[in-house]
Amino acid sequence: MVKPNIEIIRLGHRAGRDPRITTHLALVGRAMGANRFILCGDRDKKLFENIDSVNSRFGYGIECSHETKPLKYIREITHSSIAKRPAVVHLTMYGEPFREVVPNIPKENGVIVVVGGAKVPGEIFKTCDFNIAIGNQPHSEVAALALFLDQWFEGDGFNGEFSNPKFIIKPSKSGKRVKEI
Ligand code: SAM
Repeated sequence: MVKPNIEIIRLGHRAGRDPRITTHLALVGRAMGANRFILCGDRDKKLFENIDSVNSRFGYGIECSHETKPLKYIREITHSSIAKRPAVVHLTMYGEPFREVVPNIPKENGVIVVVGGAKVPGEIFKTCDFNIAIGNQPHSEVAALALFLDQWFEGDGFNGEFSNPKFIIKPSKSGKRVKEI
């Protein structure tokens, strides 16, 4: 099966406050098959090193990069016909119900998922193709991303392959079973 193109855009990262939650966004994206993680806001070399370390131990994996102008980046994508490019989905508690909308998102060209930070500029709502809510209450960007991707993959998002792993975890009823390559 060809791996779908999945990008996660994290807006407004604050190096002093958000490293743990932003790392978890990248890890959830990676575990569920995303190939690119785009960090916006503060640069964070340590965060990228941590994700690279997971890639090198458990397989590649997601690639990280930094984007200084996310709105411009998104506009350049959504400018063209949605038939020929990934759909751009903004996760927000103000959006439409995900279980109703996600089945209607075109999937052939993958998806770009935009996750907010401390303050999401209003233009993001207008520029993305879909504003999607995982329930209309505030909660966690990590939970929102996981539930969105699970719905997008129709419940089959954790079965991707990772290239060149050093370790492969074997499912076990008790204890830790790890195959070292
Ligand atoms: N105060 C911010 C704003 O201006 O909208 C939101 C902060 S919230 C902790 C950070 C991000 O988590 C949001 O931008 C959104 O991507 C995600 N999020 C939180 N609750 C959500 C929900 N119910 N549905 C979808 N995404 C959600």
